Order: sequence, then C-alpha cells, then structure tokens
Amino acid sequence: MTAVHVPGTPTISAGHLISTSPATGAEAGRFPVATEADVRAVVDRGRAAGEWWAGLGFAGRQDRLQRWRGVLARRIEELAELVHVEGGKPVGDAVVEILTALEHVDWAARNARRVLGPRRVRSRLILAEFTGHLEYQPYGVVGVIGPWNYPVFTPIGSTAYALAAGNAVVFKPSEYTPAVGQWLVDRFAEVVPEHPVLQAVHGLGDVGAALCRSGVGKLAFTGSTATARKVMAACAETLTPVLLEAGGKDAMIVDADADLDAAAEACVWGAMTNAGQTCIGIERVYAVDQVFDAFVEKVTAKASRLTVGPEGADLGPITMPSQLDIIRRHISDGVARGGRAVLGGPDAVQPPYVHPTVLVDVPEDSAAVREETFGPTLTVNRVRDVDEAVQRANALSYGLGGSVFGRKRAVAVARRLRSGMASVNSTLTFAGMSTLPFGGVGESGFGRIHGEDGLREFGRAKSITKRRARSLLPAMTFERTPADVARLVKVAKLMYGRGR
Ligand code: NDP
Repeated sequence: MTAVHVPGTPTISAGHLISTSPATGAEAGRFPVATEADVRAVVDRGRAAGEWWAGLGFAGRQDRLQRWRGVLARRIEELAELVHVEGGKPVGDAVVEILTALEHVDWAARNARRVLGPRRVRSRLILAEFTGHLEYQPYGVVGVIGPWNYPVFTPIGSTAYALAAGNAVVFKPSEYTPAVGQWLVDRFAEVVPEHPVLQAVHGLGDVGAALCRSGVGKLAFTGSTATARKVMAACAETLTPVLLEAGGKDAMIVDADADLDAAAEACVWGAMTNAGQTCIGIERVYAVDQVFDAFVEKVTAKASRLTVGPEGADLGPITMPSQLDIIRRHISDGVARGGRAVLGGPDAVQPPYVHPTVLVDVPEDSAAVREETFGPTLTVNRVRDVDEAVQRANALSYGLGGSVFGRKRAVAVARRLRSGMASVNSTLTFAGMSTLPFGGVGESGFGRIHGEDGLREFGRAKSITKRRARSLLPAMTFERTPADVARLVKVAKLMYGRGR
C-alpha cells in the first residue's frame, strides 16, 4: 500500500527534499538534502567567502546589497508567485511581505557603517590619558534558520543585517519553503558572483541541528519556542551565541475611547492575515466592558466577509497540514469550556483551509487563550478596565508583540505590555519599521533583529584603548609607589565618595 501524500507535506525522495503546494499538492521545488559533512563544508566555504566579503568594506557591501534589493524589487511578482505556490499565501500578502523585506535590506545596507563602523568614544577623567575606540567586527559565518510562515521577511530580517555587518551567511530554510529560500540565495549570487557569501542548506530539522554544531560564529533562529530550546541546547555545546526569535500569543487591548471601526479593521487584519500564521499575529483581544459588545459586532461583521480558497481569496490554506489538528483542538477546547463561537467554530476547520473564527468569553486557562494557535482565529474577552486587560495580556510566558487601541492612555498601556514590541492604533506595524528593533521577551526569545540593535546583533564589539599621554598618577603598573596608592585613595574619595 502506498502512503497518501497530504498536499503541502514535504517529502524526501532519492536524497532530495520535495516541497509541494498545500492547496494543490503541485511540486514547488526539489533540492539535495545536505548531510552533516555537507553542512560543515558549506560553512567552511562560507568562512573563506566571509573574509573576502568583510574585505569589501561597508561601501562595497552596501553597493552589492542595494543591487540585491534592486533585483528582488524588480522581480517581486515572480517571487510573490513562488511564495504563493509553495506556502499557499495569497499573492497580495506575499507582495506586502516582500516589500517589508526590501525596506530592511535597504536600511541595513545604508546604516551599517554608521552603527558598526570604527569610532572614537569619549574617555573620562579617569584614564583621560587614553583614547577609546570602538567598532563591531563580523563573526565570520552566521547560521540562519528560518520558518515557513514568512519565508522572505523572516530570513531577510537576520540575513540582510548579518551581511551588512560583514558576515557570510549559511541559511537553512524551513522544509516547507526551500524553493523560496533557494531563490533568494540564487538572486544574491547574481550580484555577488565571486564567492559563496550567502548559501543555503536544505533538509529537515536535523540539518538545522547540524548547522548549530557546524562552527558558525553565531546562530540566528526564527521558529517555534520548542525548537528554539533545542537550538540553544545544541549551540551551548560549542558556546555558539544565539539569537532566538520564537513564538507568540499576542494580545490586543481595546480601551473605552478607542475608534472601534479602526480597531475592528486592524484586529481582523492582525489576526487573520496569512490565515493567522503570523508570529506577531493578534490571537487574543481584551476589550473593556463599555465597548465590548460593539467591538465584537464589528469584528464579526468584518471577519465574516473574508473569503477562503486557493486563488484570489483573502485567506489561503494552512501551510503546515499538521497545524490543522492544533487549530481544531484550540477552537473545540475554547467552546467546550464555555466560550461562544460568534463566527466559525470547530467546523471552520476544513482541510487545508480554516474559515475565520471568533470566540468570545473564553476561559483564560483554555488552550485557545494560552497556546499559539496559528490559525485565523481570535478570542475576545471582556475586561473591567485597561488594568485588568494588561494583567491578562501579561499573564502568559510569551511576550512578542501586542497592540493597544485608545486615545488618552494608549501609549502608557503599550509601555506596560510585557512584550518586545507594541503598535498603538494599528497592528503589526513595528515589523515594517526598519529603524525599530524586533524581538521578544520570555518564551518569545531574546536578541533583536532590525534597527541598530539588529545590526549590532551581528557584530562583536571590539574595544581598543590607545595611550595619548604619560600617566600622571600611575595605577596599573608595578612601578607605582606607596605614595601613588595614597593619592589613588584620595582620588577615589574625591571623585566617587560624595553623596549617599
Ligand atoms: P519550527 O520551530 O518548527 O522550525 C523553524 C526552523 O527550525 C525550520 O527551518 C526547521 O526546519 C528548523 N528546525 C527544526 N528542528 C530543528 C533542530 N532540532 N535544530 C535546528 N533547527 C531545527 O517553526 P515553524 O517553521 O513551524 O515556524 C512557526 C513558528 O515560528 C511559530 O511558533 C512562530 O511564532 C514562529 N515565528 C517567530 C517569528 C519571530 O520573529 N519571533 C517570526 C515567524 C515565525 P524544518 O522545517 O526542516 O523542520
């Protein structure tokens, strides 16, 4: 008996990884699976290429990265179609994803020198006879492991910044989206044909594990919290530093003075774009009592208009077939424990699709509220006031993004969310702002991509002091005398001894 192939499930045949469309089962691409020895060889080649790349300097790298950005922009329709075929994402969503990624390539290329380049830093009165110099030097080769849900945006969030910082990159795309990953690498090779500065390795999770152990200078991981733990454990063996962008269960808070139409629109987008398969997707809403009913009505009306299907619809298929059971379990559990489905419900799961589902009054300890669902589903719960909303929003161990709708208190409430990011009167927007760092707290991971922090993540701080004059008060020398030490005591008291 031959096994039935579920569309979208990657298979390995004759040493090749084959990815297929979750909507139609059509083959999207096939790539040789890397062995552990292959991964090491690729990393070794990357190390040599990285030296050449670092030698190009900031200006040389900026030029190449801008050319890559240009190629990606000019071929945006082709890339969007590939993202659509391989992952099932609607073409419009793929375009938005690629546009966001282009902005990050552009910003990283333009700002790497300013943020990472050599500079003088001020010395203080103590050690005034020395000058201070700081620069951020590349790690050599950075390993990037990416998920399937944003197969362009997430790897580029690490890769473009790592490249701009002067590193070579070895990228392991998700087994669900290898064709998109390879396409990005191939376009880079067109503008940097001299050396393999950006390379891909393909396969299942074990190839990612091999990359962790391959001797890369740093490992940037984006994916689930469960895998993040394994990645960190593997990297611990060699003390390879890690950047972990993991899962989330982001909350939105709707205050009494919110613009409810705008809140409902942004909520439906934030929860259901990409069929809800978004790490920073809104999965829980806490609306204050005064506006709860009106808000639920508006959200339900908007979500019920969304279309679902393979082509031209608002929501495409669920990319990873195994996720369908999780989505069904969360909806069923929420309803079984007293939640009410005002839209959709357990029957909304119709493989490979899930229709929009809005659950209200869902117990806070149910899976639908506590675990990452990754589907076009939403729980909306009533709260007394924003204090209760913040307390409930912060009750989980995840802490990636979040959103607040309101006027007077919205920014103050956003600051109180235990998360790495928040949008006020919009959802998900921080992901597209290249000047802002992106990353989580708690089980959502640590480290930052994007912005200045995102560039520094891919450079080692290198500090240099340089003597510019003789030391008047010798301290760090065996030549100092007891009188010098007595003077040092006086200096300590004079400079630091005042106050409490
Ligand atoms: P996974 O954790 O399943 O996989 C992520 C990547 O890790 C894949 O390339 C996977 O390879 C690889 N991998 C699997 N096992 C190992 C291992 N033992 N060692 C090293 N690498 C391994 O996540 P998904 O691909 O399912 O992505 C969805 C998750 O990603 C969600 O939880 C989502 O919230 C999160 N995410 C977080 C983002 C953020 O910025 N914080 C952004 C986007 C998504 P393979 O696919 O071959 O198994």
